[in-house]
Amino acid sequence: AVGEPILEVAGLTKRYGGVVAVDDVGFTVPAGKIMGLIGPNGAGKTTCFNMISGAIAPTAGTVRFLGEEIQGRKPHVGALKGLTRTFQNLQVFASTDVVGNVYMGRYRKGRAGIVRGMLGLQGREQYAHEEIAREVLEAMRLGDVAGSGASDLPFGRQRMMEVCRALASEPALLLLDEPMAGLSGKERDMLAALLRRLRDAGLTIVLVEHDVAQVMSLADTVAVLDDGVLIAHGDPETVRNDPKVIVAYLGTD
Ligand code: ATP
Repeated sequence: AVGEPILEVAGLTKRYGGVVAVDDVGFTVPAGKIMGLIGPNGAGKTTCFNMISGAIAPTAGTVRFLGEEIQGRKPHVGALKGLTRTFQNLQVFASTDVVGNVYMGRYRKGRAGIVRGMLGLQGREQYAHEEIAREVLEAMRLGDVAGSGASDLPFGRQRMMEVCRALASEPALLLLDEPMAGLSGKERDMLAALLRRLRDAGLTIVLVEHDVAQVMSLADTVAVLDDGVLIAHGDPETVRNDPKVIVAYLGTD
């Protein structure tokens, strides 16, 4: 239900030798909300995402997703429960078309399809997955390029295609790692409008983003990391005016 915690992070810590990349970070993300995770370069944002999604194991701390602890588990554990992430760098399957790229998002559903395939239902199952991929593209106004080669699309549309792929997995929680990087101002506004629409439809979103202005206008809550430490967490207006945040961004003491 909207407002109930979907993601609860507590004491999350990652050490690399003497470097503490993430230091005792805790926050809760309510269902149906957007949380922005911001901070200067090297603050530990991607490392947090990696621990939440299961790409790396934390040194300490817990990640609770839909009530279940998933820290240190492989990425498919969260994925099967509805946790989907995108990456900072584009992950484009250049040899296939746009709909094929979005179809990849159905992978965890597709595994169930293998069982159905053994029962002789695979053709139908595959068709259904492709239909869903097309529907997502239509809804995101990429229907006209469904048949285009993925690598032929301009960068901004490849980014949108990635969001479509993530949506095709029908996530409960979507982690977006710098989705606006490389987009034009107009494309950023379009993506922000899309994310608001998804949030209003009930999706929970956590985004790491360098465009602080976009995050402040888009997110319901904002968490700020600096040098691995969570220095602020709250509504955008409060966070924006927090002296610690201002210092972190201006780099003065
Ligand atoms: P950016 O905004 O530049 O992407 P970030 O906030 O995502 O930065 P991280 O990439 O999470 O920051 O890095 C946090 C810190 O941890 C940095 O000091 C980085 O050098 C260090 N770090 C990250 N991964 C490793 C690793 N595999 N080995 C050693 N140090 C690492």
